[in-house]
Amino acid sequence: MKTIKRSWAEPYKIKMVELLKMNSSAQRKKAMKDAGYNTFLLKSDDVYIDLLTDSGTSAMSDHQWSGMMMGDEAYAGSRNFYNLERVAKEVYGYKYLIPTHQGRGAENILSKILIKKGDIIPGNMYFTTTRLHQELAGGKFEDIIIDSAHDPENEFPFKGNVDLNKLEKLIKKHGADKIPYISIATSVNMAGGQPISMKNLKELRALTKKHNILIIHDMTRVAENAFFIQQKEKGYEMRSVKEIVKEICSYTDGATMSAKKDALVNIGGFLTINDWNIYEEARNMVVVYEGLHTYGGLAGRDMEAMAIGIGESVSDDHIRARVGQVIYLGEKMLSYGIPIVKPIGGHGIFIDAKKFLPHISQDNFPAQTLAAEIYLDSGVRTMERGIVSAGRKTNGENYYPKLELVRFTIPRRVYTQAHMDVIAESTRSVFERKNKIKGMQMIYEPKYLRFFQARFEKIK
Ligand SMILES: *Cc1c(COP(=O)(O)O)cnc(C)c1O
Repeated sequence: MKTIKRSWAEPYKIKMVELLKMNSSAQRKKAMKDAGYNTFLLKSDDVYIDLLTDSGTSAMSDHQWSGMMMGDEAYAGSRNFYNLERVAKEVYGYKYLIPTHQGRGAENILSKILIKKGDIIPGNMYFTTTRLHQELAGGKFEDIIIDSAHDPENEFPFKGNVDLNKLEKLIKKHGADKIPYISIATSVNMAGGQPISMKNLKELRALTKKHNILIIHDMTRVAENAFFIQQKEKGYEMRSVKEIVKEICSYTDGATMSAKKDALVNIGGFLTINDWNIYEEARNMVVVYEGLHTYGGLAGRDMEAMAIGIGESVSDDHIRARVGQVIYLGEKMLSYGIPIVKPIGGHGIFIDAKKFLPHISQDNFPAQTLAAEIYLDSGVRTMERGIVSAGRKTNGENYYPKLELVRFTIPRRVYTQAHMDVIAESTRSVFERKNKIKGMQMIYEPKYLRFFQARFEKIK
């Protein structure tokens, strides 16, 4: 019998809508020019479909919204904290939890507790805030992700894996006592949302056990990673995403969470850990930086929405549609011949701008140019991840990163399949006139993190 591929559909119906404004081509032209051809400087009101980030941009469910109405705004011992603590323990399995205002709040506390000056923190690719907190605490990040993670053409399904040889070399070179923990992200953001396999994680656990080194899990996108394990790793086809999430967490000693991603809230995060002594210290420190250990910078209602969001985030139906939507968009782009990073990751599509606009040299910002052209075509906002984001070295020279990408990040439960069609068709229409597109020059460059505020001008 021939099996026909069946479609999935969003596992929800829509109760309330937020109207979108559709600007004219002339309005977009003016808005883009006013923004110096930098999508970060556009006003949200001038954007039609916003794919700048999946952070804090999710749509909450009616359950989460009703949870907001049950906020217990007591200063200490809010009921919502205990709900959050109970759900997080049930879903992830770590022993102790401290809420924080968002992911970087947890990173700050954890780094200050575990890292001493001169320590080495190996990790499967850096993340901006994670690495910065490690450095501020006196540590040095070392990348131990497998080489193929840096190659957009390589279709290995688990490009988030750790290269255990790289790690062993680091342990040999510095000694295990210089390595307070290994920093492991699930669904590696900077590699394009690429997952780590359970097999790799188990091997990593065995190796770190031998050397008595902790594993701290950046679990921001753990549910998306679990979905890829279910779909692609032998032995996990019949397991639920919820079971897989718990197994992933069981091979690590604690985690930092930005609940603004997988956990379906607009603000929130936490630090969670199995070791009592680390917890004890974190509970002392959170009072200094975030707030009392039963609210950590959040309102009671935020913790309730997070508790409910965590439960929803590990439902198979939810995650199949979430990642399914990203894959739907990616496959549509591929069918139009548009060069994207493969395999398609869990939270967005990354266009290879060097291939899309091969006639524009990296000095004329192909990814920045492409993000601007897509906005001009349809009002879809994406972002540059290339030479502008990479910035300059300490000697003032530009970094020339291998990857020159435009990122389309998909917020959770916000847009429909029809929006994905509009995005792909707009990109195709830019692709069809790509030879007429010229690059840009930078006319204003800020000193730090220039991609946020730099301004550009089209080359005549
Ligand atoms: C967003 C993010 C963080 C930081 O979390 P915030 O909530 O933005 O502070 C850390 N790690 C990863 C992988 C992230 O994507």
